[in-house]
Amino acid sequence: MTAPRLEIDLSKVRQNTRVLVDRLDPRGITVTGVTKAVCGHPDIAKAMLSGGATGLADARVANVERMRQAGITCPVLMIRTPMLSQVERVVSSCEASCNTEAGIIASLAAAALRQGTNHGIILMVEMGDLREGIMPEDLTDIALQVTRTPGVLLRGIGANFACLAGPAPTAEDMAALSSLADATEAECGPFVDVVSGGSSANLRWALDTGPAGRVNNLRLGEAILLGTDPVSGIPINGLHTDAFVLQAEVIETKTKSKLAPLKLSDPALSALSLVPGNHWKTRSILAIGLQDTDAAGLIFPAAVSYIGATSDHLVVETTNCPLRIGSEITLRLNYSALLHAMAAPDVEKVLCDDRPSADGRSASRNGRHPALL
Ligand SMILES: *Cc1c(COP(=O)(O)O)cnc(C)c1O
Repeated sequence: MTAPRLEIDLSKVRQNTRVLVDRLDPRGITVTGVTKAVCGHPDIAKAMLSGGATGLADARVANVERMRQAGITCPVLMIRTPMLSQVERVVSSCEASCNTEAGIIASLAAAALRQGTNHGIILMVEMGDLREGIMPEDLTDIALQVTRTPGVLLRGIGANFACLAGPAPTAEDMAALSSLADATEAECGPFVDVVSGGSSANLRWALDTGPAGRVNNLRLGEAILLGTDPVSGIPINGLHTDAFVLQAEVIETKTKSKLAPLKLSDPALSALSLVPGNHWKTRSILAIGLQDTDAAGLIFPAAVSYIGATSDHLVVETTNCPLRIGSEITLRLNYSALLHAMAAPDVEKVLCDDRPSADGRSASRNGRHPALL
């Protein structure tokens, strides 16, 4: 098999989704599987759906188109505000999108009318992360505007926490989001079906025993894929953290002294390297580099420590276990390393599954009111 190679265990993705869906269901919260870290890989998306996700979400229209071409028909939410230059593609591939700009919503509405359809709008509210979001005091105005615009349907509101700047959300933050849902309804009528409470960063809150309020959806990527809490990096109880592993091949192993360059330039100094107590280490090179992944986001086996990486080389150090040339080292990945490895053309993606691939659940996308996202 070729290396570097990302080995993807679809059963673990499916099981992680199932565990989260089953824990959130009693709280009245559905799971939208977020596929952006895996570039909308259709088989991984299908594993999320067969694990019980009620829909999918991605930040890039090309990823959504890839899933559609693979026959995935469930509701898909565009979670990045659509580009004006892509509104036609967003309307034709996604049931709904997250939005913060009235001008873009107007353009989506026009595209939907041209395509003879309606496009769902989730209004994202700024709740402290300072990435995307409408300021809470402006929410009802924009919501009213959406309800009066043919071609778009106000499907709900959402918020994002702990992605750019903010901390994990508190119970107060989430109660404030519920109040905003009530306030929007009071102004616009009973339109707020979906209250999408955030990402994997909100799981700690969502799985707690306090009231879930109006929040009835989470958009989960990292927790499903890597089994970790993005805020702390700590594994979430009961989830697989090794659904993705990266295999890299050893191409050099040598015992190198820090004095090696001096030995070459000055024979007199070479004697120094024979003095006991000098720091001799076994260094190896793995044939993988910054073009393939975020090297700083890799997790190494216990006996192997990361020294550094360049575009095509990754240098590690070992003690008492020199790595054999041609052997493979198994690496685990954080979110950033996964994101880069999935997008890298020279990293082979190898899928395994403990059961034959299930088709994506075919929630209809023809109806005017598709299933809850
Ligand atoms: C990426 C993203 C998510 C998913 O985040 P995870 O930490 O992977 O769960 C959810 N919502 C929005 C708007 C996002 O951009």
